[in-house]
Amino acid sequence: MIRERIELTPKKQRRVRADLVSVLGEHRVHDESGVLVAYSGVNALFPRAMPHFVVRPLSTEEVVEIVRIASRHRIPLTPVSSGTQEPGTHPFFGGIVLDLRGMNRILEVDPERFYAVVEPGVTVGALARELAKHRLHLTVGSFPPSLSVLGNYLQVAVNSHRSSGINHDILALEVVLADGTVMRTGSKAFAERFPHVSWFCWTNSFPSLTELFINAQGTLGIVTKGAVKVYQVSEVHDTILTAFPSYRQSVEFMKDLARNNLVQHVCAWHWCLYTIIDHLEQYGHGASSEVVVYDPWETPDDRPYNIVVPTFSGYREQVEGVKAAIRRLIEKHGGRDYTEECREKYPGAHKFFYDHYVHHQPTNTFMGAYAEGYPVMPIVLCDPTTVADLEDWGLKFLRSSILKLGLAYYSHCVDMGRTIFLRMTPVISPDSSQRQIQRAARVRARYMETAMRKFGAVPIRPAPDGGQTLKQTGGFGQALIKIKKALDPQNIMNAGMSAGMYGSSMEEGGGD
Ligand SMILES: Cc1cc2nc3c(=O)[nH]c(=O)nc-3n(C[C@H](O)[C@H](O)[C@H](O)COP(=O)(O)OP(=O)(O)OC[C@H]3O[C@@H](n4cnc5c(N)ncnc54)[C@H](O)[C@@H]3O)c2cc1C
Repeated sequence: MIRERIELTPKKQRRVRADLVSVLGEHRVHDESGVLVAYSGVNALFPRAMPHFVVRPLSTEEVVEIVRIASRHRIPLTPVSSGTQEPGTHPFFGGIVLDLRGMNRILEVDPERFYAVVEPGVTVGALARELAKHRLHLTVGSFPPSLSVLGNYLQVAVNSHRSSGINHDILALEVVLADGTVMRTGSKAFAERFPHVSWFCWTNSFPSLTELFINAQGTLGIVTKGAVKVYQVSEVHDTILTAFPSYRQSVEFMKDLARNNLVQHVCAWHWCLYTIIDHLEQYGHGASSEVVVYDPWETPDDRPYNIVVPTFSGYREQVEGVKAAIRRLIEKHGGRDYTEECREKYPGAHKFFYDHYVHHQPTNTFMGAYAEGYPVMPIVLCDPTTVADLEDWGLKFLRSSILKLGLAYYSHCVDMGRTIFLRMTPVISPDSSQRQIQRAARVRARYMETAMRKFGAVPIRPAPDGGQTLKQTGGFGQALIKIKKALDPQNIMNAGMSAGMYGSSMEEGGGD
């Protein structure tokens, strides 16, 4: 079992390279340091980790061959779909980075069965453009157009950004396992025997294995295809941008909307963040410095504390009814219709909300918010009864720490308001010293600990923390480690991340 960063002798390096070249040819196998460094990790919280090779497969068959080579030579494999992940795609133990961006075919758009089948390199922008031709759209969330659809949808259960129903947009997957087995999930599992079976159904008569690969960070297998849900472009898509003086009121409003089936999605935006987004949309970069260092809970008197953005669609008559009901709820919860004022005062933010949530067209605007610093974002899934207290405590706690820059948040209401996603968005300056980065990491860890202990929240996205987070789950963690060991006994799949996620208990009785 791979337990630490691997070292390759020059002889072994040559042998592995020759094997990879025999599958991919010279031009898709890289070991030049100029290329490797670009895949050595983007997250400030972790030191850079150089891979030994970067390879660019173009098909599932090539992925299978690469997995077999890695397995034969016992070399870690780290898949990258677009490489922006929090905490960052780090080949911690070296080995082969599998850059999947060349697998960028939209294999099917099926307007009747209501899904699209894509490879991992298909971007949100490319799929949005293709779907528009069929009067369909996908869930674009707040992601920039250059990000991978699957890279995002695989990351977390709230990436579908929908306020009702199951919270991801993946119908079924094709996955290459560590021994080279190719498996398909949902209805498509039966296509091996019955080729006419399509991807139409998320389940079959057995437990759902799709979920196993969501949030797995490439530690259990490499996803080579995914059927993702698509949605109809209806007669009307609209929003009423709504101003609220407090997060507590915003949460109650969002829950009321979601539980009464009035919205497809609803999200609250803190004033610092929509101000930054407005600036980015209008001027292309940066944010006025007073916003970046402001006390986040003290709203200036010229703008609302939160703007809540509900998304709804349907036939004209139906949407009129929805709007009337929403207006009643705005009043009930003490908010006000801010649509026109937002257009006038914050045209950039207004455009961003309409582009993403009404027109379902991804933009680069939000990406720029992070370009000014290193994001160190504590993100949690919250209990709807305590999330407002967490927001109040969290802003004050972070403001008094090293994580005070760009302190703001956005907050999605998911699964009928059973869960509230709260993503604080602080950054540290890019010229921070290692000591400052470590201090930032400790603050983030303290936030997460208190969010769980005091406010009953849970973290999203596994952190490579030596298995500490997984340990807190008891029997669940033990079961997951058994699955990891059964599927990948040598720990080939994202080996360094696996060590970080599953911890040392993965090694007990391991496959050596
Ligand atoms: C501007 C912006 C806004 C965002 N907004 C939100 C938001 O509202 N809500 C939210 O939840 N998140 C949000 N995110 C976070 C985003 O969803 C994650 O950063 C996501 O991981 C990015 O996908 P990626 O393709 O870059 O992943 P990568 O960095 O390529 O990969 C992520 C992880 O999955 C593994 N992996 C990659 N490809 C595969 C594969 N084919 N098979 C198996 N494993 C694989 C990698 O090894 C890595 O561990 C946002 C990000 C940005 C930049």
